[in-house]
Amino acid sequence: MASSSSSPLPILKIGIVGFGPFAQFLAETMIKQGHSVTATSRSDYSHVCSQMGITFLREMKEFCEVGSDVLLLCPSILSFSEVLKSIPFNSLDKKTLFVDVLSVKEYPRDVLLHALPENFDVLCTHPMFGPESGKEDWKGLPLVFDRVRIRDEVLCRNFLWIFETEGCRMVEMSCREHDMLAGRSQFLTHTIGRILSEMEIESTHMDTKRFEAILQLKESTMKNSFDLYCGLFKHNKFAKQELDNLELAFHTVKRKLLERIEGK
Ligand code: NAP
Repeated sequence: MASSSSSPLPILKIGIVGFGPFAQFLAETMIKQGHSVTATSRSDYSHVCSQMGITFLREMKEFCEVGSDVLLLCPSILSFSEVLKSIPFNSLDKKTLFVDVLSVKEYPRDVLLHALPENFDVLCTHPMFGPESGKEDWKGLPLVFDRVRIRDEVLCRNFLWIFETEGCRMVEMSCREHDMLAGRSQFLTHTIGRILSEMEIESTHMDTKRFEAILQLKESTMKNSFDLYCGLFKHNKFAKQELDNLELAFHTVKRKLLERIEGK
């Protein structure tokens, strides 16, 4: 970790594992802030990385030997455990801080605490925004985090500063509380967006503002991978209940409507 003379930001060496759309989106800001970023991924992102000023290392061992301060884990939820298994921990700096950005939180916390040697600190985060909602700036957008196992407070604070300095709303909460709330807000939003897409709703020349909002929900949801949606369901234990609630609510509304029409 080094500090820059021109900026108050501590400069971090950040290694990104899984360089899909969300990782690329985060990396853009990290590079802008002056951090040194290295990436690895299942697919070859060497061209994208060279354009962004990022070193791409396909070989996991070589990537780990760079000596990153922070390992930022950005694979899909479904591949998280498998990706973590592919990391040779003994090739890393012993004080590396592990940070995940998965959209579910109890699952990566449990996997990390189970798989990681004791010496590594663990910070679980969920930036509650993405390439669409955060394309202009990150001002006021929530960064949820849980300091799961932190001994190096300075390093943890310096990492969180990346989001703070962009104006994010910093929300500290337990992984469990996150999943409980996100099961309702996030999983429900994705589910309704996907239902609207199945219905093939399209714009007309007489759209109302509310219909425009619905179209916007469909479009932004469908920009996320189906893997992400499956992960939200599979690894958030509160999601199944929300799906059942949605089904029940649909049938209740339909029943009330038909009862009124039929004069019951
Ligand atoms: P995603 O489809 O959830 O994940 C794509 C990433 O997963 C890519 O890096 C991909 O690697 C990797 N991956 C998928 N299957 C793999 C496998 N079998 N083995 C190894 N790697 C595999 O798309 P995303 O939107 O970029 O999301 C990444 C993470 O960020 C997810 O955990 C998601 O929950 C979280 N997140 C996303 C958003 C968002 O707005 N998109 C917001 C907050 C948090 P390759 O590309 O190399 O194949």
